[in-house]
Amino acid sequence: MATTDTNTAASTAAPKFPEQVTGMYILAEALRRVGITDVYGLVGIPVTEAAFAMQKIGINYYGFRFEQQAGMAAATHGYLTKTPGVLLTVSSLGFLNGLTATTNATVNCYPMIQISGASDPTMVDMDMGTYEQLDQLNTARPLVKAAFRCSHAKDIPQAVARAYRAAVSGRPGGVYIDMTTPALGEIMNAADAEKLFYEPVDPASTVAPTQAAVDRAVELLTSAKKPAILLGKGAAYAQVDDKIKELIETYKIPYLSMSMAKGLMPDNGPLSALSCRSTIMEQADVVMVIGARINWMLSFGRGKWNPAGKFIQLDVQPTEIDRNVPIAAPVVGDMGESLDMILAALKGKTMSTDPTWLTSLQAESKAKNAKFQQRLADASKVSPMNHWTALSAIKPILESNPDVILVNEGANTLDDTRDSVDMFLPRHRIDCASWSIMGMGMGSTIGAAVATGKSVVAVEGDSAFGFSGMDFATICRYKLPVTVVVFNNGGIYNGVGVNPSGGNAPAPTTLDINAKYNLIGEAFGADNYRVSTPEDLSKALTAAIASKRPTLIDVQLAADSGKESGHIGYLNPAPLIDYTV
Ligand code: ADP
Ligand code: MG
Repeated sequence: MATTDTNTAASTAAPKFPEQVTGMYILAEALRRVGITDVYGLVGIPVTEAAFAMQKIGINYYGFRFEQQAGMAAATHGYLTKTPGVLLTVSSLGFLNGLTATTNATVNCYPMIQISGASDPTMVDMDMGTYEQLDQLNTARPLVKAAFRCSHAKDIPQAVARAYRAAVSGRPGGVYIDMTTPALGEIMNAADAEKLFYEPVDPASTVAPTQAAVDRAVELLTSAKKPAILLGKGAAYAQVDDKIKELIETYKIPYLSMSMAKGLMPDNGPLSALSCRSTIMEQADVVMVIGARINWMLSFGRGKWNPAGKFIQLDVQPTEIDRNVPIAAPVVGDMGESLDMILAALKGKTMSTDPTWLTSLQAESKAKNAKFQQRLADASKVSPMNHWTALSAIKPILESNPDVILVNEGANTLDDTRDSVDMFLPRHRIDCASWSIMGMGMGSTIGAAVATGKSVVAVEGDSAFGFSGMDFATICRYKLPVTVVVFNNGGIYNGVGVNPSGGNAPAPTTLDINAKYNLIGEAFGADNYRVSTPEDLSKALTAAIASKRPTLIDVQLAADSGKESGHIGYLNPAPLIDYTV
């Protein structure tokens, strides 16, 4: 009963690349083959070699200092490209840190895929206390659009393809893949693995609205005496810029842009009603909402809104319709298809717009804009600087560089920058979006720079910068054309909060009015400036944009510049005690 030596040798030979491949390598290949070119992450057990495998096969891997920021980068990448941004995290805390960003992406309808290393699920299920044990799949599930688990290497290509489709189709969002350690470490023959890859057909297939819905909307729009269009970031995301321009310009409909939709149509255009928000809400009789949710940012469509006004709403998500206010003409479908059908149905029809509607909005805009310019001109002379002083220097520079992407977060820094800086190009303003969060700055900045290859300027409050500041180092390591401007007023909202106990500890809102944030730039080899006048800020920002080098500008403001919660103080529960905030 002799067995042959050759057989024994063949069955025990150590597996070796390229004849054999691991799940890690299959993951990298699966991503590459669905067209993923960039991955953002922070490695460790069990995903380190997966990142190396990605880099080996030509995927650009961006390593961060905090998973949440890598996730913010992936989310912004998704928003700007209409393809999923990819985040790679380790198990347990790394997963949870990243999930914050994936959840935020889902809330904002940004397509992204979080791929997280995970412990062996059979051990997690038996609560054995394995390394970094956490039931990640079930933790992620309620917070994402779809969730998959790979327990075997053979499942990886299909999970990646399905995650891609889930992220970009319908309403975009965050998708989670639980990439278990056994699957990552599993070895397969390369020839067998090769058979697993496939190219998903039409992964972002669109859905058209019905003709009846389109006709109803067109009927209502053309009957309006005081029509208006409200543009949201869903309209910007859809990349249907020409169709929106055609609709607005051909039918002369005034438009109001939500924060991240600014620039889809020029903020200063003749039909822009950006300065007439209240008038539109109070007086418009038909408002066509394109890719925006009628949520808290729009007073839920109630209160200030004209009670006799009617809404047309274009959205890919049927459940968005009637969410807070009855929608007279819902158009459920993909933005491109919907606008094509609306434009076709409008051909040959005329609007019933009251001729004084547009002229009165234009007169109001002119008066308000002049007043705003005067406010900035007056502020430009104030010393020490306040937010408006700094913005009087920043506004003309950013407006003369319209192709620079503006990332913006903070409280007063967010509100005042949004109000000051006009945008002229679509998808050039990224901010804290629907949840109005803090802590997206450096990640979004990196994602925007990588996804577009364009220069990015981030205007950050000092508090906002703190949430992601360490990833300024990532900007430096990858030598991105990014300028970070920190408005330092020494606190959350401002730097004049008073500890009500009379003790020496800082007030809950107090940070560091004397901090030299620019030295963080120095630590990582960036150009850096510390400025306290609008002239110096102007020079520094101009040089920074021209250099295309990582730059950090610390802008010294007065500690009393800025008020609690900026423009949204009304959302804060009022105390009965009079604190100094
Ligand atoms: P904003 O914050 O600017 O008001 P929201 O994020 O609240 O914008 O709303 C964006 C809306 O756009 C969401 O309801 C989303 O379903 C919708 N949307 C996103 N992409 C598309 C698309 N391709 N076609 C149609 N609607 C879309
Ligand atoms: Mg501050």
